[in-house]
Amino acid sequence: MTTQFDAIVIGTGQAGPYITRRLAASGMKVAIIERKLFGGTCVNTGCIPTKAMVASAYAAHLARRGADFGFAIDGGVRVDMQQVSARKAAISAQSRVGLETSLKKLDNCTVFEGHARFESPREVSVGAERLTAERIFINVGGRAVVPPMPGVEDIAYLTNSSMMSVDFLPRHLIVVGGSYVGLEFGQMFRRFGSEVTIIEMGPRLVGREDEDVSAAVLEIMQHEGIEVRLNAKCIGFSKGADEIRARAECKEGSPEVRGSHVLLAVGRQPNTDDLGLDNAGVATDERGYIAVDDQLRTSAWGIWAVGDCNGRGAFTHTSWNDAEIVIANLLENDARRVSDRISAYALYIDPPLGRCGLTEAQVRKSGRKALIGKRPMTKVGRAVEKGETQGFMKVVVDAETKEILGAAILGTGGDEAVHSILDVMYAKAPYTVIQRAMHIHPTVSELIPTMLGELKALEA
Ligand SMILES: Cc1cc2nc3c(=O)[nH]c(=O)nc-3n(C[C@H](O)[C@H](O)[C@H](O)COP(=O)(O)OP(=O)(O)OC[C@H]3O[C@@H](n4cnc5c(N)ncnc54)[C@H](O)[C@@H]3O)c2cc1C
Repeated sequence: MTTQFDAIVIGTGQAGPYITRRLAASGMKVAIIERKLFGGTCVNTGCIPTKAMVASAYAAHLARRGADFGFAIDGGVRVDMQQVSARKAAISAQSRVGLETSLKKLDNCTVFEGHARFESPREVSVGAERLTAERIFINVGGRAVVPPMPGVEDIAYLTNSSMMSVDFLPRHLIVVGGSYVGLEFGQMFRRFGSEVTIIEMGPRLVGREDEDVSAAVLEIMQHEGIEVRLNAKCIGFSKGADEIRARAECKEGSPEVRGSHVLLAVGRQPNTDDLGLDNAGVATDERGYIAVDDQLRTSAWGIWAVGDCNGRGAFTHTSWNDAEIVIANLLENDARRVSDRISAYALYIDPPLGRCGLTEAQVRKSGRKALIGKRPMTKVGRAVEKGETQGFMKVVVDAETKEILGAAILGTGGDEAVHSILDVMYAKAPYTVIQRAMHIHPTVSELIPTMLGELKALEA
């Protein structure tokens, strides 16, 4: 049987539900399809559960540092992984259930549960059902890449999804991948009490960031007793009696790491391979990301792609922003565009890294005349008072326009403090605006104007 709708939304990640609500509120008849868990990655296996676990790990870490703050806990700090897992699951479920319930109650909206597949440019199948619509929105997200490393299929590896079922303490967690996902899991499990080794193929951690950021992150990891193996070549796995052996030929150290569990955190791939995109004439790039224009239209008329599956962002806020852009264009006569947004994200290790705009390396490469300001967190009063002085803040400014080009705040509160810089960048205002604004004492943000008052020429 074929049912006609005004719009079909595939996937209930960050963008899909927003688009559904807005179109339904405008009077359109909307179908939204989910094949697994409502809320997708962020709610179930990404941001929300990991940040809940990061919070547990932070609390345990602080408790162990009692002597630094003038208190003692009798006996050691023992983490109950079942409780940590239950807390995380409850926080995640609150969002998932809230979303599912609200979509199922929404006027003008029909929820379908099952795998969606294009049968033609206007027709989508979900099991035996056939749905048609003039407008179709793809919000299918992505999943962890399982790299074809020798022996990988012979071991019971973990990904960010299966990590959600880990309600025990791995004796020794081997994390393959020293970027955002791997570092967050690595540090939290170290703080829960596991031995942790991070194996990274590249010469440094978070290789997309500036070298000084990578070096500081490495120091933070090593300071907590995490072993980091860089420049790892020939990564492969084999099973021992009660252990997993990971081969990692690095410039330094043993060519083999022996652990109890392996987490693969080497990147993401879009969920576009089983969507029947050919039947709809929707083009993808060589990695499977759906090609979109600046307003998120695909190569097929009447079909949009939003969120991680379009390769234009890999964050909850970029997916949400995609949805706002689509709705602004469709319903609000406002020609918002993807190219209007400024890259911004955080790395949720402790202390966190808040980032916006260009890196120092990107500015140098661009060849433009620039100014740079940098301040260690040891010179930020709030960080000193909190006993959290790792990291630094850094800003790069265009020497001619005085506009801020980019910033990194690796330090306590860095994920929040970076927003004052981001907002001034978005306003295309000169850095002097932020420099003259009176900031609150004692905060991390109060040192941003100070840093901007000490800019120096960025030497080539
Ligand atoms: C460990 C981890 C931590 C993260 N932490 C952060 C963070 O702190 N901050 C941040 O901004 N981002 C974070 N991210 C990234 C963030 O989770 C994603 O960018 C975000 O979820 C956006 O996803 P989306 O809207 O593209 O779709 P998703 O959330 O991936 O949802 C897609 C949905 O589509 C469904 N689907 C797929 N194919 C079909 C089909 N054929 N039929 C029906 N349904 C289908 C899926 O089941 C899924 O529910 C993290 C990611 C990971 C893995």
